[in-house]
Amino acid sequence: MRIAIIGAGQATATLLQTLIRGEFAGTLTVFHDEGPRPVQRPPLSKTFFKTKTADWLVPDDLMQHPQIRWIHRTVTAIDPDAGHVIWDDEHDSFDHIVLATGTRSLKPTIEGASQDTCHTLRTLADAEAILKRITPETQVVIQGSGFLAFEIAHALATTVASVSLLLKTDRAMPQVSEVIATALMEDCPATCYPDTQIEYIQPEMAKLHTSKGPLACDLIISAIGSVPNAELGAPWGLTDQYGIAVDATMQTAHPRVSAMGEVASFPNPHTHRTQRIESIAQANDTAQVLAARLLGNPQPFQATPWFWSDQGAHKLQIAGLATRDDQSTVITHGDNTRVVARHQGEQVTAIEALNQAREFMAARRLFEQGPMNLSDLMQAGSAFSLLQSSRS
Ligand SMILES: Cc1cc2nc3c(=O)[nH]c(=O)nc-3n(C[C@H](O)[C@H](O)[C@H](O)COP(=O)(O)OP(=O)(O)OC[C@H]3O[C@@H](n4cnc5c(N)ncnc54)[C@H](O)[C@@H]3O)c2cc1C
Repeated sequence: MRIAIIGAGQATATLLQTLIRGEFAGTLTVFHDEGPRPVQRPPLSKTFFKTKTADWLVPDDLMQHPQIRWIHRTVTAIDPDAGHVIWDDEHDSFDHIVLATGTRSLKPTIEGASQDTCHTLRTLADAEAILKRITPETQVVIQGSGFLAFEIAHALATTVASVSLLLKTDRAMPQVSEVIATALMEDCPATCYPDTQIEYIQPEMAKLHTSKGPLACDLIISAIGSVPNAELGAPWGLTDQYGIAVDATMQTAHPRVSAMGEVASFPNPHTHRTQRIESIAQANDTAQVLAARLLGNPQPFQATPWFWSDQGAHKLQIAGLATRDDQSTVITHGDNTRVVARHQGEQVTAIEALNQAREFMAARRLFEQGPMNLSDLMQAGSAFSLLQSSRS
């Protein structure tokens, strides 16, 4: 079997590893367009500005594996009926095509901004471009309210003169409960400006005009979200409103095409909704589901969703998946620690653990055992105690 994989991110790294370990008998051709060798994304917003080094995503043995061919080109089209993958003015034929194209950063249009003054952070090239522009005198403004914006604020705080963070609304990190978001906001080294919109920039005066007045600014980093790279599937009717639509085994509507990672929109068994999720765990779990099918052992997606973010010295870990409207109940609250249950009525949808790795691990195991009840969790006093009692 000849398989083409388009994109060489986290999902592809896991797919390759799992297929080779599973003694896949065919050939794997990977098309990638992000520098000569794929790198891990999470360190780019956490440690890169200090270490100035990136971590390889794919180990040497896979880069040189005789079954894997690497083609450093952007794929411009696919023809699933013919099995064709098309790039530049070349094409090749495959038995199966995997779309693992991920997402790209949403780029705002800011009056007065040039490529030098306005940046996003997704790739190693993006991180290197920011690094080139910063000095101890640089005044950085970050636009965004999510984990990434806050991670970048922590990462740059000791390297530049000032970091300002412009939040779209008065709520930081809307993905988590207010209790956790407030704790993280209090320890954020940036000056935060809630409910603040950018109007225009005057780079020659190092001034950014916002809805709340002018701000000193040499450099803007926008972390305002991303859009799926789903264009290759669109002409073939393989997309939905979120990305490339797949079933629980990562199969699209075309028998020759699969999708995985954060471009894949799939029926989530935990939320009973069609969703596209951006996380390392999701990239790994969808890749493993696809690998199992390609190895002849199809299994539907069942993994418990989980996520982590390093906010300076704080480690946030989330097991499960809450919607923004889910209720929040604090389970434990220490000096530096919090555990919060997110729930819809009695049904626990996620557990958020701040600097509580043991609670997070216990919560993940509980989710793997099936639905969790809020009263049981409250009675036990912690996810760890509930896990222990469920075992005895
Ligand atoms: C700075 C940063 C920090 C992050 N930190 C965390 C974290 O702490 N925790 C966490 O859980 N998640 C984190 N994430 C999210 C996580 O990295 C992603 O969810 C994950 O990498 C997605 O993997 P993927 O393989 O689906 O896509 P990607 O890793 O985006 O890979 C897709 C690849 O496909 C390539 N491609 C697209 N179109 C084509 C084409 N036509 N031809 C050839 N190649 C193409 C793209 O250029 C890209 O290289 C972070 C993301 C970023 C950007």
